[in-house]
Amino acid sequence: MPTTALRKTAYDMALENFDEAADALELDAGIRERIRYPERCLIVHVPVRMDDGTVRRFEGYRVQYSTARGPSKGGIRYHPDVTLDEVKALACWMTWKCAIVGIPFGGGKGGVTCDPKTLSNGELERLTRRYAAGILPIIGPQSDIPAPDVYTTPQIMAWIMDTYSMGKGYPVPGVVTGKPLEVGGSLGRNEATGRGTFHCITAACKHLNIRLPGATAVVHGFGNAGSVAARLLHEAEAKVVAVGDSRACVLNQGGLDVFNLIRHKEATGSLAGFPGAEEIDTDEMLGLSCDVLVPAALENSIHAGNAGKVKAKIIAEAANGPLTPEADRVLDAAGAFVLPDILCNAGGVTVSYFEWVQNEQHMTWSEADVYAKLEDVMARSFHDVLEISRTRRVRMRTAATMLGVSRVAMAAQVRGLYP
Ligand code: NAD
Repeated sequence: MPTTALRKTAYDMALENFDEAADALELDAGIRERIRYPERCLIVHVPVRMDDGTVRRFEGYRVQYSTARGPSKGGIRYHPDVTLDEVKALACWMTWKCAIVGIPFGGGKGGVTCDPKTLSNGELERLTRRYAAGILPIIGPQSDIPAPDVYTTPQIMAWIMDTYSMGKGYPVPGVVTGKPLEVGGSLGRNEATGRGTFHCITAACKHLNIRLPGATAVVHGFGNAGSVAARLLHEAEAKVVAVGDSRACVLNQGGLDVFNLIRHKEATGSLAGFPGAEEIDTDEMLGLSCDVLVPAALENSIHAGNAGKVKAKIIAEAANGPLTPEADRVLDAAGAFVLPDILCNAGGVTVSYFEWVQNEQHMTWSEADVYAKLEDVMARSFHDVLEISRTRRVRMRTAATMLGVSRVAMAAQVRGLYP
């Protein structure tokens, strides 16, 4: 890994993406100044009574990057590395992402710097409720709607929904998405990000004349996004040759049985020891020759130090910000077709929007309905981005950011500058 001194922060990367798109769009200087920065950043103090009776203080954040096109929308991350800088970057990307898929939301994000793996269930609930109380003044179904992200779950969303509802005195399911079905969650939300990634990969294969059945794939990160993408690729008869997570990477050049691999991880807690597969290290896995590489872990997994080894034809960014700008340039120069995160993982927020619509209308849609609508949105968005990439002769990331930024800029323009 590059040293911290050399590494750009996630927010540097987000601004770099924005500036590149704004330059290509020749964006009006006044509009550029208005939409380049977060509208509101909140830092909250989160004291929690631990099981042993002591009190531990955590820090939490909620950033509303833009409300130009609608209420801000974005997940909440629980991770030891969460910083305000990272939350700002993720909120910025959410803004363009919602605009790219054409849903009427702005962008936001939240996080708590903590290691949820070391907390008991009771500690996790108290931390969540106290954090929710801290951000309560700025969230709401018409203002800012959180959702799950890394290491936050439907249960955590239910606690946030309950905390908010207790404050109001009546149930408000639309304050968060990614909830359990029992309290207004949507069918299909669990699969949405991985499924949206899969639809983008399908469209990209068609565009590049790669037959998906028999195509080889490598998936890095095997949580919600990665495991679903891997399973759908396997179902479509692509050969998922390697999969890795924070603990182990496993390889079988003949193709892994992803259904059994999911069962193995559920049973043992790890990918390691999967029968018929050999263990390899992460950089070796990222450097495997394959048609599709799906980075589905955290930011910066592919950086200047390992990008030169990547040989995949398609890089499908299920994770947010998995390539550093240097890695992005290296892969671009090598001719890889990069499906940028703000397009490729937008299935999650799209179905979150469907959940919010169902909550606001007190209706429930069938899973088939949700999946059909999701597929439409992803296919249309892929082609909108591809069209810009072709006509403006820019890479897919710049094209996607241009589409998102231009839609936000248009909304800011027609709304005018208050006061
Ligand atoms: P998750 O917590 O379900 O899974 C994360 C996975 O990454 C786990 O398998 C973990 O072991 C792995 N991981 C963590 N650190 C790693 C490392 N250093 N090396 C290899 N693997 C590592 O999280 P998720 O929801 O699947 O999110 C993954 C990525 O997708 C994140 O960047 C997230 O922002 C993005 N994303 C998720 C959603 C969603 O709806 N879940 C939506 C959009 C984007």
